[in-house]
Amino acid sequence: MRIANLSGRAVLVDDDRAIDVHAASCGRFGPDLASVYTEWEAFSAWAGTALGAGAGESFDTRDLEAPSPTPSQVFAIGLNYRDHAAETGLDAPDAPPTFTKFASCLTGPETDLMLPTDTVDWEVELVAVIGREATNVSAADAWDHVAGLTVGQDFSERTSQLAGPAPQFSLAKSFPGFGATGPWLVTPDEFANRDDLAIECEIDGESVQSGRTAQMMFPVAELIAHLSAVCTLRPGDLVFTGTPAGVGVGRDPQRFLVSGNVVTSRIEGIGALVQRCVK
Ligand code: ZN
Repeated sequence: MRIANLSGRAVLVDDDRAIDVHAASCGRFGPDLASVYTEWEAFSAWAGTALGAGAGESFDTRDLEAPSPTPSQVFAIGLNYRDHAAETGLDAPDAPPTFTKFASCLTGPETDLMLPTDTVDWEVELVAVIGREATNVSAADAWDHVAGLTVGQDFSERTSQLAGPAPQFSLAKSFPGFGATGPWLVTPDEFANRDDLAIECEIDGESVQSGRTAQMMFPVAELIAHLSAVCTLRPGDLVFTGTPAGVGVGRDPQRFLVSGNVVTSRIEGIGALVQRCVK
C-alpha cells in the first residue's frame, strides 16, 4: 500500500490514481496525513478495503508533499554504512551516532533547494516512519511499529557542520528544504525483502551514490530498538537511517552542489525525489 500527502490531504495511491482518504472513509480518517498516523492500525485495516475498486483521480506528482509533515521527532543516524564511515575518515561506530533534523526542514519529493552556501552536500537515505508507539521494543518486534518506508535526502551544509570544536550535525542539516522526503509511504509488506533495497543518488544523471540498504551496520529494526530504549517513538516520527558512500565531502577533490544541479534520490520499490538546486 502506498499512502501520500497530496496538497495537504491524505490519499491512497493506486497505480497512478489518488483516492482521497477522508472522502472514501466518509470522514472517519483524515483529511490530513498527520492525523492518520494517530490511528494507524484502524486506518491500515480500513485502507486494505478501499483499494482495487478502480476509484481515485489522476494527480500531478508536483503536488505531493512530505509523507509525514509534522513529526513529533526526527531521528537521523550517522555513519551507518561502513564504506561511508571510511570515506569520512572515521571509525565504524559501536552504537548508532544519533542527531536530529529539525522538522521545519522537511519538504516533499519535488522541490527547489535553496543553497545557503557553496558547501552543501547530498546524502540519500532510507527513512522509516513510525506507525505504533514504541518504548523499549526489541529488534524482533520493531517492524510491528513501522508504518512504512520512504526516501529521504539528508542535505548537509558541511562548513557549519564541521566548524568545531564539536560537530554541529543537527543545525547544519536543517536549513529550509534540507529534509526532502517522499514521494510516498510504502508499507513494509510491499517489499520482497524490506532490509535489502537498492539505494542511489544521481546529480544531473551521473551516479554519485549506489548501494544497498542491507549494507547498514545497524538495520531498521536495531535502530528502533536502540532509539526506543531512550525515547518513546510516536506515530508519524521519522528515522533517517544513514547514507552509503559517495558524498561530496569524502571525495578528492571535494565536490558540493551548485545552482542548476538536479539531485535525484531513488530507492527500489519506493520511488524517487528530485531536487533542483537554486541560489
Ligand atoms: Zn545522513
